[in-house]
Amino acid sequence: MGRKAEGRVGFIGLGTMGREMARNLIEAGCTVRAYDVRREAIDELAALGAEAASSPADAARDADIAITMLPDTPQVEEVIHGEAGLLANPPRGRLIADMSTISPVAVRRMAADLKAAGIDMVDAPVSGGPIGAKNATLSIMAGGEVDAFARARPFFEAMGTTINHVGVPGAGQAVKLCNQLICGINIQAICEAIALGRASGVDLNQLREVLLGGSAASWMLDKLGQSMIDGETGAGFRIDLMLKDLRLVQEQALSLAVPLPGTALVTSQYLEARAHGEGTNGNQALFRVYDRMTNQSPQPAG
Ligand code: NAD
Repeated sequence: MGRKAEGRVGFIGLGTMGREMARNLIEAGCTVRAYDVRREAIDELAALGAEAASSPADAARDADIAITMLPDTPQVEEVIHGEAGLLANPPRGRLIADMSTISPVAVRRMAADLKAAGIDMVDAPVSGGPIGAKNATLSIMAGGEVDAFARARPFFEAMGTTINHVGVPGAGQAVKLCNQLICGINIQAICEAIALGRASGVDLNQLREVLLGGSAASWMLDKLGQSMIDGETGAGFRIDLMLKDLRLVQEQALSLAVPLPGTALVTSQYLEARAHGEGTNGNQALFRVYDRMTNQSPQPAG
């Protein structure tokens, strides 16, 4: 559990990450009013002590802060600009923290629209995956005005342990995209090492252990390496969501004329994985691309 916190939070988006983050806010001492387009997600959180909301506006009602944790840019835009959205129905504290991974350009646009209505927006994407969300150990990288960040910080501390203010609105997303670029290429590197180790007849469990003790160690090798070796593809961070992030990385890079050849290559491999029906599998399913390239008859996706 994260640090103690108090206050009222409107929480919108109760999926893999949002459900755990909202639960940590409740456990920290906050009153959480929760909304999702899936009724069962609201019911699940209500069973943990949240108040059930009927719309984003209803979730934000009386809140010190509204927090969104949604799949992609269009869903965040809908929750901000939609009929029952937060621009027309701001939280009482006039503070919104979007913790999804979305377009930095869209963040700047939304932050400006909200600012014109006297509402502060902080973009605060996270790293650490479902485990970090569950254990309240997320790394949170926030963009926004200094005062808005200071007001949001106690709520972030209930969900994470590494909390940084990295600049103006959109800067949090820019840092997160750098993070995702490293994650994607690192996952690919692990796939390649395991494919080569397998072909060399090396014991793969031992390979992973040895690598974790040296300079090739990484969070991804630790958390996803074993699943690759075991052929376990269950979702955590889905292939589809990583593809969305790699698309955002490439959009940002193209708009700034920064060539990213490594990202381009790994994006093609993620597309190959999705074309083979693995979009809803976890990122470790990228290894199936290497199964196919080495004619190792991968198991059917699922
Ligand atoms: P998810 O798909 O599991 O959850 C998203 C939730 O939003 C779902 O419950 C969905 O029903 C709800 N939703 C969709 N549209 C909505 C709307 N208009 N109004 C209200 N609710 C709506 O996704 P997730 O894995 O929790 O990820 C959320 C965000 O966090 C994404 O941007 C993702 O890239 C990012 N992220 C995910 C991970 C991870 O490991 N899963 C890690 C870091 C960051």
